[in-house]
Amino acid sequence: VPLDELDARISVCRACPRLVRWREDVAHAKRASFADQPYWGRPIPGWGSDTPAVLIVGLAPAANGANRTGRIFTGDRSGDWLFASLHRVGLATRGTSVHAADGLELVDTRMVAAVRCAPPQNKPTTVERDTCAPWIEAEVSLLVPHVRVVVALGSIGWDAALRTFAALGWAVARPKPRFTHGSEAALVHGDRSITLLGCYHPSQQNTFTGKLTEPMLDDVLARAAALGRM
Ligand code: SF4
Repeated sequence: VPLDELDARISVCRACPRLVRWREDVAHAKRASFADQPYWGRPIPGWGSDTPAVLIVGLAPAANGANRTGRIFTGDRSGDWLFASLHRVGLATRGTSVHAADGLELVDTRMVAAVRCAPPQNKPTTVERDTCAPWIEAEVSLLVPHVRVVVALGSIGWDAALRTFAALGWAVARPKPRFTHGSEAALVHGDRSITLLGCYHPSQQNTFTGKLTEPMLDDVLARAAALGRM
């Protein structure tokens, strides 16, 4: 299946009853500040280059962010931090992501979510995570010939990336490599090796508390950009 066909299939998936209800309820109710806007209210496909050297793996869309705009990390505070940093390190053509038709482009980079529908409290269940796994596996299997580095956002993104590559037959070091900000692990398949790079999630919980600063985020994404060019 080509990537655009996969995106189309993902965007109409209804496999998780709780998440379908939540994504549609939020889209129907709308946050007051976005009352004049249409909401996407559907699964969020990956977005960016079709042949990326850098693959960014996040957890799940935000209810009033990507679930509203239809584009991953677009329209929420995490995305504000992420796109600003991607622009500073040369992986995005500008530093703000406003809506799906704003002309922003990623440079040699693609973003995907491990779970494609917005979950209540940003917490998918294990069953929902496993139900959605075939989508990220299908997407990564199409991208993997080009990918040189995977940036995992948060420990959940890290685990999702490890699980996805293991499911696709890539070897991962044992014991499981530990996630921290800036940690690196090798994903190996035959004579190919991809670097998995850990990055604290740019959630408000991390950015408001100073656990993640702009220079820290820039450091990891600049490392990803350098590995992507190698
Ligand atoms: Fe489908 Fe994934 Fe959304 Fe579940 S979370 S409904 S599997 S796209």
